[in-house]
Amino acid sequence: MIDILVIGGGCAGLTASIYGARAGKKVLVLEQENLGGQISYSPRVENYPGISSISGAEFADNLYEQCLALGVEIDLIQVTGIERNADYFIAKSQSKEIAAKSIIVATGVCQRKLSLDREDELSGKGVSYCTLCDGAFYKDEQVVVVGGGNTALQGAEFLSSLCDKVYLVHRREAFRGEEKSLLRLREKENVEIVTSSFIRDLHGQEDLEKITIENLVNQEKMDLSVTGLFVLIGQVPNNKPFEGFIKMDEEGFIEAGEDCKTSQEGVFVAGDCRKKKIRQLTTAASDGTVAALEALKYLDEAAYPNT
Ligand code: NAP
Repeated sequence: MIDILVIGGGCAGLTASIYGARAGKKVLVLEQENLGGQISYSPRVENYPGISSISGAEFADNLYEQCLALGVEIDLIQVTGIERNADYFIAKSQSKEIAAKSIIVATGVCQRKLSLDREDELSGKGVSYCTLCDGAFYKDEQVVVVGGGNTALQGAEFLSSLCDKVYLVHRREAFRGEEKSLLRLREKENVEIVTSSFIRDLHGQEDLEKITIENLVNQEKMDLSVTGLFVLIGQVPNNKPFEGFIKMDEEGFIEAGEDCKTSQEGVFVAGDCRKKKIRQLTTAASDGTVAALEALKYLDEAAYPNT
């Protein structure tokens, strides 16, 4: 029987597993795809206290090694749901069921789509959601980045070092991302920033060849001949497997306060998949810590109910 089952192997989940393992508990982390989570795709992390600059991949590797050294078990499995019986929980997947005394959900978020006609069809054929994963395929080509947050700004900067030309298309005048990143982009000769505009259509036979953008103020349309479109417009939570089991808000984020306790006693939530205002690496680590400490308290109380 697992003491703490952590679902999701990003910064929040792995931090929780460190605290659980260091308290002597049997901890299993289930990850469906990529240990380290979103941060492993970030070209540079420069805002984590005590580490002035590190690549996201190296940060994720260090975290993974730290967990292994502490005896955390890790399995690559996609959880499809959780059930509870009288004393414990069952996490279900296609291949097996795992029993655990407590659960920490730390499934993070995935990239939001534009919901354009042909977006799915052209995904992997010019449409991408990850600059670090796919940027190199567009070396010396012309690409568009869409979005106004830090992911889009950093993505555009990364692509500007590889591509011939980068258009950054954003639907408003003001950007959510950091001013410092925006200033750096404005200085790049091969970056063109197009504001108050949205992507209207995608064109191409087999692969993306051209996109049409439309200005929201004067409705003028413009075609851009590009081979890549990087959609970096925020995220949606990976909480589908837990629908109906734990309480979520209308966008699918799991409801919990700063104590990370969900509507199900013994189930905790950590990181970006929780309803919260700020989603950063530091807040993911913070949630992982809190969720693990609350899970430890829950396990102690369950073992010694009268103390
Ligand atoms: P975000 O901050 O939520 O920004 C999403 C952007 O996409 C917004 O500018 C939004 O426009 C735009 N957008 C949303 N839906 C759209 C649609 N359907 N069509 C066109 N545009 C759309 O998301 P993010 O950039 O992925 O960042 C997520 C979190 O991670 C943030 O807290 C960010 O600061 C953090 N982050 C930090 C770093 C770092 O190194 N510190 C790096 C990356 C991300 P509006 O502004 O008009 O709503």
